[in-house]
Amino acid sequence: MSDLAAPYRRTGALDGACVCGATRIRVDGDYVAAVGICHCRICRVWSGTITGYFVASHDAVTVEGPVKTYASTPFASRAFCEVCGTNLWLRNNGPDDEYEFVPALFRDADTFPVISEIYCDRAPAYGQLKGDHKRATQAEYEAKNLHVEGRAP
Ligand SMILES: [Zn+2]
Ligand SMILES: [Zn+2]
Repeated sequence: MSDLAAPYRRTGALDGACVCGATRIRVDGDYVAAVGICHCRICRVWSGTITGYFVASHDAVTVEGPVKTYASTPFASRAFCEVCGTNLWLRNNGPDDEYEFVPALFRDADTFPVISEIYCDRAPAYGQLKGDHKRATQAEYEAKNLHVEGRAP
């Protein structure tokens, strides 16, 4: 993750769960105690509203439960609980790639601030965020990052 995350790097334990409780996630290791919002079409439709993520090192994560994944782009997948449908994480396909977790799964993440917002020019009226965090438009973000929106649902 970018230098933006540097002040928020932590090492420790966080416990998360889906709505039904069948899927439990433990982060025990390195993570970033801050949230990046993404207003891209896939994230918005997937979540049903605006959404964001915090990242955790792949080797810090343990997952138990009936998790399904969906390849939302050629390079990344999204996970959800097969029982209750709670969205869990977004992750690029490399074995060492970090998890980008839906923060609401983890009570301890309630205190994580927003540090970035991408696709900000695509944000819906109901998702306008206040604050002076770093922002990038779709064009600004896609000029520097691998990202394919795919077919707009
Ligand atoms: Zn569940
Ligand atoms: Zn997105």
